Amino acid sequence: MNEPTQTESPTGTGGPCFSRRIARCGLGAGPLAIRTLQANVTKLCNQACVHCHVDASPVRTEQMSLECVNRCLEILDEGDAIENLDLTGGAPELNPHFDYFVGEARKLGKHVMVRHNLTVTLDGNPRTGEAKRYIPEFFAENRVEVVSSLPYYSEYFTDRQRGKGVFEKSIESLRMLNREGYGAGELELNLVYNPAGAFLPPSQKSLEADFRRRLEEDHGVRFDSLYAMTNMPINRFEKELRRKNIYDDYMEKLVNAFNPETVEGLMCRNMLSVGHDGRIYDCDFNQMLEMQARAGGKPLTVFDLDLGEAMGREIRFGVHCFGCTAGAGSGCGGETAA
Ligand code: SF4
Ligand code: SF4
Repeated sequence: MNEPTQTESPTGTGGPCFSRRIARCGLGAGPLAIRTLQANVTKLCNQACVHCHVDASPVRTEQMSLECVNRCLEILDEGDAIENLDLTGGAPELNPHFDYFVGEARKLGKHVMVRHNLTVTLDGNPRTGEAKRYIPEFFAENRVEVVSSLPYYSEYFTDRQRGKGVFEKSIESLRMLNREGYGAGELELNLVYNPAGAFLPPSQKSLEADFRRRLEEDHGVRFDSLYAMTNMPINRFEKELRRKNIYDDYMEKLVNAFNPETVEGLMCRNMLSVGHDGRIYDCDFNQMLEMQARAGGKPLTVFDLDLGEAMGREIRFGVHCFGCTAGAGSGCGGETAA
């Protein structure tokens, strides 16, 4: 068993310890494989959502360089076991090398998934004004799996979390994806729900059924699966919780809802997450907390990565990790409980 002795996050001092909680359950939580390389290619986004754990917005300028993109492609090529490239941001489509990255990864035979916010297709690049209406067709041509946040099937709750007009644009963008063949069983279109406040998501299965019925009946929109994700108590959402003085209540909710059956499926156990500057983390959340992964006595970067060494690393847990193990669990693909 990999003894969990990790650094807890800065907010964890004196508070509940995630590593100890796992150890108390007699569970190991070391890396199992590196099946996915996730790359956060930009912090620029056409939106500035209230719950955004990346702090992305139209004023951010960070972009992954071509050199770093090429190094990620070399890693994908080296690691036969790495099946997936997961592109995220910000709005990943706003990185100038995005199309190249997708195309080259597909040539290597990798499954590519994109965390696509839907509205970028209609808004375009907020800094340059460059149009992005070609995105649905580009995704279809490259058989990209599209994973898109849609906080709710109603305009009121979606716009409250993501900004005025977002729901209407999201529906239009979903229709464009449907016209390209997405959501009909062959090209995968998955939606992500996250709660509009400091509470855990309801059952993914029942939410999915509600979303499917309402989106089809009210808007003629189809999708494949719905992933329910917990809001992580970091960055913009953490600030919001603290501003409302409910951070401790929310953390207590997460800690009390700890479910040992989620530990096996923690996404950090099967992936590496790369920042725009090439630094490597156990997951996107650790990336936002600047908890860089370490192995062989040094911090990991794509520029000198040894995949074997990375498999031997200890995952850096923190109190925020209780967001991944609460209730039915939460990961890139929604619920994680066994
Ligand atoms: S669309 Fe996504 S990346 Fe952009 S601000 Fe909203 S949550 Fe953050
Ligand atoms: S936040 Fe979740 S995925 Fe990231 S290290 Fe913690 S448990 Fe793992």
